[in-house]
Amino acid sequence: MNKQSLMRVYHKLVTHYGHQDWWPADTVFEVMLGAILTQNTNWSNVEKALNRLRQAHCLSASCIDKKPHAQLAELIRSSGYFNIKAKRLKAYCHWYLQSGELAALKKLTTQDLRQQLLGIHGVGPETADDILLYAFHRPVFVIDAYTRRLFSRLGWVSGEEPYEVLRLECQKRLGNDIALFNEYHALLVMHGKETCRPKPRCSQCVLTRLCDAAEL
Ligand code: SF4
Repeated sequence: MNKQSLMRVYHKLVTHYGHQDWWPADTVFEVMLGAILTQNTNWSNVEKALNRLRQAHCLSASCIDKKPHAQLAELIRSSGYFNIKAKRLKAYCHWYLQSGELAALKKLTTQDLRQQLLGIHGVGPETADDILLYAFHRPVFVIDAYTRRLFSRLGWVSGEEPYEVLRLECQKRLGNDIALFNEYHALLVMHGKETCRPKPRCSQCVLTRLCDAAEL
């Protein structure tokens, strides 16, 4: 994996799929909630949960913080693992309020903010980096299962590397380009869902010439 190969893949994906314009949300706070709700589920289920919260006038940190657990879990039922996620949303919103909300959090360095996010119940590296990149516009490259699968099939990595190793390797090669990180991650998700699936659709893929695992 080097900068040239990363950029070649990026250009092929963006030419094929077009710009994805992530994250799909109306507000910064919805990006944060969505990053937690999307754990282990697809986006349509997240949208249903966000809509229920909106209809209940509970798309705010103070409402979620105060809402009884059982009521919150019921509102986000569509997102799956709703009891676990209700606990996670409440922990996130409590931290968010205690930390002074967006205005105060924006002033933190990326490293400090990342450390704080990783200290919240239910926020792992991928969720923290989704929030950092798409809510706070910080230069972090999100690593997820789609990224691991594609990069290992391309022959760039084994796919077993620790999260931080992959994240820092990508960032080192691509520089601190927030717009590129934003678009690249969205394209990797699209490609992983549409083409480089568990059973890959290589005959429809724009990366076959670059890919060690291409089945033609
Ligand atoms: S050629 Fe096949 S394995 Fe390689 S990236 Fe494309 S779909 Fe995935």
